[in-house]
Amino acid sequence: MTTNERTIQEINEKIRDGSVCVVTAAQMTQIVAEMGPEGAMHEVDVVTTGTFGAMCSSGVWMNFGHAEPPMKMSKVWLNDVEAYSSVASVDAYLGATQPSRSRGIEYGGGHVIEDLIRGKTVNLQAEGTCTDCYPNRELSAEIGLDGLNQAVMSNPRNCYERYGVAANSSTRSLYTYMGKLLPELENATYSGAGELSPIVNDPQFQTIGIGTRILLGGGEGYVIGSGTQHNPSGGYGTLMVQGDLKKMNSSFIRGATMTGYGPTMYVGVGVPIPIINADVAKSAGISDADITTSVYDYAIPSRDRPVLASVNYEELKSGMIEVNRNEVRTSPLSSFKVAQEIAVYLKDLITKKDFFLTEAVTPLSSKDIAYPLRPRKNAGPTTIVSVVSDQFMHRNADLCIHCGLCVPYCKAGVFQQDSDWTVRDDQSLCVECGECRDICPQRAITVRS
Ligand code: SF4
Ligand code: SF4
Repeated sequence: MTTNERTIQEINEKIRDGSVCVVTAAQMTQIVAEMGPEGAMHEVDVVTTGTFGAMCSSGVWMNFGHAEPPMKMSKVWLNDVEAYSSVASVDAYLGATQPSRSRGIEYGGGHVIEDLIRGKTVNLQAEGTCTDCYPNRELSAEIGLDGLNQAVMSNPRNCYERYGVAANSSTRSLYTYMGKLLPELENATYSGAGELSPIVNDPQFQTIGIGTRILLGGGEGYVIGSGTQHNPSGGYGTLMVQGDLKKMNSSFIRGATMTGYGPTMYVGVGVPIPIINADVAKSAGISDADITTSVYDYAIPSRDRPVLASVNYEELKSGMIEVNRNEVRTSPLSSFKVAQEIAVYLKDLITKKDFFLTEAVTPLSSKDIAYPLRPRKNAGPTTIVSVVSDQFMHRNADLCIHCGLCVPYCKAGVFQQDSDWTVRDDQSLCVECGECRDICPQRAITVRS
């Protein structure tokens, strides 16, 4: 690894004093081709990347605020699209690929999220599990983004480093998450932004890490970890990202539907790459021709689909590739136009001192591998060990977390808490009243029935 020639702090100083040199990743490809990595490193401080594609593994956390009477929401629908709501009483997570009950795949979580960003009113329906503290059972309200306490986009997997190409050797059209695949290899579809794509510009994660400030949906966001299915050792790194929905722009967040597959969401992400050394300059100089990927046959419904060909993004972007000596027309699912707009928008924000870079608090792994499902072999049923005790009341010390909740309930003083918060019980004091039967959240206390 080359030693760092410059720090992010120095680059932020150059942003502040206006001397910073920012180029998009497409421009950097040219600069490195002309000047070499060393020359480019001395010329350029920041490279901006951009991607705008269907990113199914996305969604938004929302807090609705408490209703009157209060409710513990167990089921939640937004414009008839179900959100996951078993997270306390009025929090919910709306996934981008959740279809509507009434409109099916033509309207889903991604569309609701776009509508909220556009300032539209969204219908909230909720069912509650009636408890003493949350008596409300049913709720219907019209809400807007401004009415949500928090709306945090939190996407488990965005910005795939590159993506497999989809084709179809069968005799019928296939409807997939990669779009419509015509029979007999008549077309191929692909995703990813090629040389503009964030991770291909820093595949060793020398600069991208937890805490890296990014553009997410046109607003400020952060990398919060490596994404799910992160597989950089196979050339398929991913990012987990988060950002405030209230700062986003519907030009960079769009609901979408893949016919015969389901709803999804197009997400726009821009990641700045600080050119801290010649190594990073070299990576950021990558061109479409350098980025190879495989063409998979979706006619074989298996996770290990056969590879029909290996191609690069220059060929893909040309509109035609060769598969089994056949010319096959290609079309992208991602938008290069909007990806370019995002890279330019981020460049402008930095140049205008409206966006500063952050140092990652922890780099992302460049060695992870994503494995297929790995069921445990001979895993028998989970056995519940029930404690048999001849005492009226038994406190299982292995389960007890010493919270002390039980102490004041026992008027006989069986439960005592020491100065170091350790909870003990003195069985000899028990008068078998049973008051402690249903107190312990850890179910450490069992009382003879
Ligand atoms: S309530 Fe349960 S977990 Fe808490 S101190 Fe008592 S026995 Fe332990
Ligand atoms: S049964 Fe009653 S007396 Fe015994 S420990 Fe529980 S609360 Fe205390």
